[in-house]
Amino acid sequence: ERQRYFHQEKMAAIGTLAAGVAHEIGNPIAAISGIAEDMVLRRNEGPGVCASKELCLQCRPDLILEQAQRLSAITREISDFASPQPADPQFLDLNGQLRSACSLIRYDKRLRSVELRLELDSQLPAIYGEANQLTQLIMNLLINAMDALESVKGRQPTITVSTRVDSGRVCMTVEDNGHGMEKEVLAQAFDAFFTTKPAGKGTGLGLPLCYSIMKRHEGTIEIDSSPGAGTRVQAFFPIKEIS
Ligand code: ADP
Repeated sequence: ERQRYFHQEKMAAIGTLAAGVAHEIGNPIAAISGIAEDMVLRRNEGPGVCASKELCLQCRPDLILEQAQRLSAITREISDFASPQPADPQFLDLNGQLRSACSLIRYDKRLRSVELRLELDSQLPAIYGEANQLTQLIMNLLINAMDALESVKGRQPTITVSTRVDSGRVCMTVEDNGHGMEKEVLAQAFDAFFTTKPAGKGTGLGLPLCYSIMKRHEGTIEIDSSPGAGTRVQAFFPIKEIS
């Protein structure tokens, strides 16, 4: 029964995603074919024939690369999400999941200067869910936190990952003291394909995926952010009885 529920929710989420995907993938493909077509036409004219620097033959391979990287990032995220993993929800130790995700990203060279704090409630009840999906949720939040810390100056860049029980729910928090979000950014943060990151880096699918993962776990996700000061993302899971 529950397995079927997970599966149907997943299919519904994929359907919603797919609607936006065709459009989103269309733009970089059109750009790549346009640029490539132009390069073929001008093959014999040599570099530097264009008036605008942006369209200069020497720049075009960069544009192609940028658009192609954006495409592969989008397709990678979608296939991670849509790949046929058997639905296998079970009782899980969220603290353990957080510990392994954090030890994974400690190898990321961007984290070298970042302090990664773990404040885990040792009495935390188990949550009912899918390990792969939870890992994806945690990784997405950690990557966003790392990205937000990249430009931070004048304070020790810090990510705090914590768990607690809050009003009868299990709460997981990922907090950073990075650049934060302006009101307009926060308002669109959960929209599919909304990103403030450069092409090839952001897909705008991270938070929408987090949202649908939380929905499938019958939970909620909330973001508080202060521009210039940092961001806190909280995910709330129901506590289920182990029968
Ligand atoms: P992506 O990371 O690919 O841009 P997301 O859906 O994960 O897509 O995030 C959407 C946008 O929300 C980001 O581009 C960024 O502007 C903003 N955002 C997300 N997490 C954070 C964070 N921790 N700090 C600041 N801004 C964030």
